[in-house]
Amino acid sequence: MINVDDLFDYVSFTIDHEPHIVLDPGVCATCNHRGCTTTCPARCYTWSEEDQKIGFVYDGCLECGTCYIVCDKQAFTRWRYPRGGFGVSFRLT
Ligand code: SF4
Ligand code: SF4
Repeated sequence: MINVDDLFDYVSFTIDHEPHIVLDPGVCATCNHRGCTTTCPARCYTWSEEDQKIGFVYDGCLECGTCYIVCDKQAFTRWRYPRGGFGVSFRLT
């Protein structure tokens, strides 16, 4: 069995300069649960208490769709899969 942290041994990324997920940080600043920070398996989301600001990096996104489901605040100004040829590749065989 593979846990999520081990999964990164079996994936590679071709990173697009154009982010496939874009957030409105102003919406996140008013979010009362920040579920993305606790459910994203790639830990792409972080919350800074000091800055009262969401941090997001798309480079390690596993394209699982969890954040799209978890966010009930319409914080995404863009959410799509990476353009063809970019994003995660799984090497599980
Ligand atoms: S992305 Fe959605 S769930 Fe995450 S902090 Fe922003 S508003 Fe909340
Ligand atoms: S699609 Fe999955 S891996 Fe990518 S940012 Fe959302 S929760 Fe994280």
